[in-house]
Amino acid sequence: MSTLTPAPTWTELVALEPRLQALYDEAHALRVDDDPLFCGSFCYAIGHGEIPSFKRRIRELVGWYRPEDHPVLSTSAAWLLVSQTIEDALPDCGTGGCSCRADAAEWRRAFGLTSSL
Ligand SMILES: [Zn+2]
Repeated sequence: MSTLTPAPTWTELVALEPRLQALYDEAHALRVDDDPLFCGSFCYAIGHGEIPSFKRRIRELVGWYRPEDHPVLSTSAAWLLVSQTIEDALPDCGTGGCSCRADAAEWRRAFGLTSSL
């Protein structure tokens, strides 16, 4: 068991799998100012226009579903760090669409998903 292994850093993961940096750069460089219906969360999970799902592409590189087993890249810690980093790098949701990332709590209240206000 290697449960005491410290969680990997972004720099360590990119050194092992440079394609992670390319995905980050792509997410970070995305410009959707002319698209009020852009949704960062949707783009991450499903895709946006011609842009394929980031989640699906990340899954090929890190986490439990990585096709080739790797002692660091295949861990859930690697998956968590990469998925959060890439999703955060995406632009905010457009003004005319949802505001799922800006105020997720508001959204949950609106749909009655929590009783605490
Ligand atoms: Zn959104």
